[in-house]
Amino acid sequence: MILIKWGVSVFIIFTAVVFGFSNAQAQGADRFKDVRINTIKVTDGIYMLMGRGGNIGILVGEDGVFMIDDQFAPLTDKIKAAIAKLSDKPVRFLINTHWHGDHTGGNENLAKQGVVIVAHDNVYERMSKEGFLTLFQKTVPPAPEKARPVISFNDTVTFHLNGLDIRAIHHKHAHTDGDSVIHFTNANVIHTGDIFFNGRYPFIDTNSEGSVQGVIKAVKQIIKMADNNTKIIPGHGKLGNKKDLQNYLDMLLTVTDRMQRLIKEGKSLDEIKALKPNADYDDSYGSGFISAEKFLGILYDGLIKKD
Ligand SMILES: [Zn+2]
Repeated sequence: MILIKWGVSVFIIFTAVVFGFSNAQAQGADRFKDVRINTIKVTDGIYMLMGRGGNIGILVGEDGVFMIDDQFAPLTDKIKAAIAKLSDKPVRFLINTHWHGDHTGGNENLAKQGVVIVAHDNVYERMSKEGFLTLFQKTVPPAPEKARPVISFNDTVTFHLNGLDIRAIHHKHAHTDGDSVIHFTNANVIHTGDIFFNGRYPFIDTNSEGSVQGVIKAVKQIIKMADNNTKIIPGHGKLGNKKDLQNYLDMLLTVTDRMQRLIKEGKSLDEIKALKPNADYDDSYGSGFISAEKFLGILYDGLIKKD
């Protein structure tokens, strides 16, 4: 139910707010007042929170709360209230899977409460300067200093908390150039960030050096880390598993192959859109904030650069 509501409302939100910190009005509480935070149990001690924006991962335990991504700033209090129902301990660490504002919007609020923010070096870099999102024709100003990670890493970093090992692994040029996949190795849970949109066409931020080939490569690596019991928290969409990720990979390989052929035939983007080459996928994958048409544009722009 929440997914349907999300799918309809999120397009409006994304065209207004996009991923940035920029629009104070759009980040205003009124736009988020009806958002409810839904808590989904993933496994013992690990939860996924869905509100508006990227899915949040939460680990609770004796050592404190570990958090993955934090949606939008006006939702921080609701998110904290949802966490308080799971644990009376403070949030100690927050890791951002990438720089987009629907995953980092709560950073400043949480940093002010003493949460230590960790992310890949490129997340730090991108949050420290002005960015641009071609798809939304949107300039994103630098994030406030307090919102930026205080620890950044270049390849992997591992946390040892609540009896678990939590490994963040950087994937180059996938959804962006600063994506981390978070692997709770001994709990068999993976948070993919926006490398994986479960059941939706993904946004690929080519302006932040993302690429569809990089997403495909990263998805293949995540599949290798998973078994049939692995719980997979996607950046967007419902809690998934290895089979969902495999289906997503098959879709990406098929649509990429089709687009490459059409580009080779010399077709323009408008001609390709008219052909609806992915009609067989559009009903199931085109219901998120990346519509079938938008996704063709992302593929075309990304692939034509390579030719
Ligand atoms: Zn994103």
